[in-house]
Amino acid sequence: MDGELIANLAEVRRRIQEAAERAGRSAGEIQLVAVTKTVEVDKIKQIIGQGVKVLGENRVQEMLSKMPQLPGDIQWHMIGHLQRNKVKYIVGRVSMIQSLDRWSLAEEIQKRAEKKDVAVPVLVQVNLAGEDTKFGLAGNEVLDFLTDVARLDKIRVKGLMTIAPYVQDPEEVRPVFREMRHLADNLRGKIPGVSMDYLSMGMTNDFEVAIEEGANMVRIGSALFGPRIY
Ligand SMILES: *Cc1c(COP(=O)(O)O)cnc(C)c1O
Repeated sequence: MDGELIANLAEVRRRIQEAAERAGRSAGEIQLVAVTKTVEVDKIKQIIGQGVKVLGENRVQEMLSKMPQLPGDIQWHMIGHLQRNKVKYIVGRVSMIQSLDRWSLAEEIQKRAEKKDVAVPVLVQVNLAGEDTKFGLAGNEVLDFLTDVARLDKIRVKGLMTIAPYVQDPEEVRPVFREMRHLADNLRGKIPGVSMDYLSMGMTNDFEVAIEEGANMVRIGSALFGPRIY
């Protein structure tokens, strides 16, 4: 057993709990998505052994190669920018696509989901800070986009996802998280069939601030598995 990994997980869970309590919520309301990109299968098996059931990957090929090596009850979340030609490989196999960021991708997901007759839960990726290096809709585009996506009957919008700008001091991105929360609150109940159950925000560097501002899904990699080199 990798004692360091187990200690890291305990520490992350403790920090999630404390952040949730500061926000007047319970840790049980916060879904941890363990981000396993670049992590070897042996290590992933160990964290699964500690009760982690939701894994996030950002590359289709890597996810597909890991899937058959890990238990069938794992919930896989696609969290990375998704090319249309890869959609067919993951529809019906992932429990959520967190990175729906454009209409052409929505159409492709709908098409592949029709073929397989499955529903696809998604989060819409938002880029509030307007960073060129990141994908996602601007805040003022989200309502129209959701209205269009609601017409695609195989796509089930479950909420919003964002990747905040990387900053040394996560306090600097608190306003981004707060604005995301307001966006989700304003959209909730507006469009039939579109839910705002999940607000996926917060990574290793900023997950406590994100939880304090209303995240109920955090995507954490390096705090669990150590730094990545790629
Ligand atoms: C890699 C990644 C994460 C996790 O990043 P860490 O800083 O290692 O926790 C979360 N979300 C997305 C979309 C990622 O690509």
